[in-house]
Amino acid sequence: MEHFLEVYRSCQLCPYHCGVDRTQGRLGVCGETDTMRIAWMGLHRGEEPPVSGEHGSGTIFFCGCPLHCSYCQNCQISAARADVPGIPVSVAELADLMLDLQKLGAANLNMVTGTHFIPSIIQALELGKAKGLTLPVVWNSSGYESLDGLALIDPYVALYLIDVKTLDAEVAARFCGTARYVQEIGAVMEFLFKRVRRTRLNSRGELGGILVRHLLFPGTLDATKKFLSWFAMHAKKQAWLSLMVQFVPPLGDDTLPEITSDAYDELIDLLETLGIEDGFVQELADNIPWIPDFTRDNPFPDSFADPLPSFLELKKRLLSAGNQLA
Ligand code: SF4
Repeated sequence: MEHFLEVYRSCQLCPYHCGVDRTQGRLGVCGETDTMRIAWMGLHRGEEPPVSGEHGSGTIFFCGCPLHCSYCQNCQISAARADVPGIPVSVAELADLMLDLQKLGAANLNMVTGTHFIPSIIQALELGKAKGLTLPVVWNSSGYESLDGLALIDPYVALYLIDVKTLDAEVAARFCGTARYVQEIGAVMEFLFKRVRRTRLNSRGELGGILVRHLLFPGTLDATKKFLSWFAMHAKKQAWLSLMVQFVPPLGDDTLPEITSDAYDELIDLLETLGIEDGFVQELADNIPWIPDFTRDNPFPDSFADPLPSFLELKKRLLSAGNQLA
């Protein structure tokens, strides 16, 4: 398993292919060295029903991200060297924390933006398995992945919970920080469609396969229609869809148009016309917008999530030992 860590010596884990030696403390676009940093772990009940399961999805929020979306709801932890401290976690510690999620009744291990830590995650999963870890792995990703990185993690993944943010280069440049997203996500989806033939619920109500998430950005209805046409043509036989409409604008930005009920109704009609049946559609509700606050022990509303006690203990221990968190 040690050989996986060699990947960090000339990192090619995402489409930036920085080639930096992260073992020497060098940072790529993702902003992370080879020291795994985690912002939060716990049970999360705000995912799609079969992902949340009965007690919540065992969610792990990794720090850093190769993609720099302008609207990122996790910007406190995803922006390179963001202001909220991440907890440096060793491979052995992560294995034990994952086992603690299992004891707490987690439905799965939900790896949020783990792309740039794939080698360490694999090692932790192997160590955990040797100690009795059996939870299925949900790969919760922006889709900005290199095919080499995906090939490494693929044998461990039960469900790809993967964004297809847009297939429109202008929208990608504006909201995802790079027009390249479009060509890269195309290659990623082709890769996944070769690996995963079907998406389905098993007898325990666990979803396996590919669940594609797509969020309607304000003022980009045509781009979402284009995405849905693509999904109907290329994906619906193999994947489920999660269509989301509750866009939360970045703090202080009130210039983006609201998503109207007419636009929402148009999309619902289009789903029917295109014969897209398997999946989930978010309500266009008058919810009070909120974004996670990772400065809190529980960044989410209490009804949504419970922190993992042993992760909070580890965090406190590091802080009380006077360690400078990275
Ligand atoms: S994960 Fe991507 S951004 Fe980060 S160092 Fe590797 S290639 Fe660069």
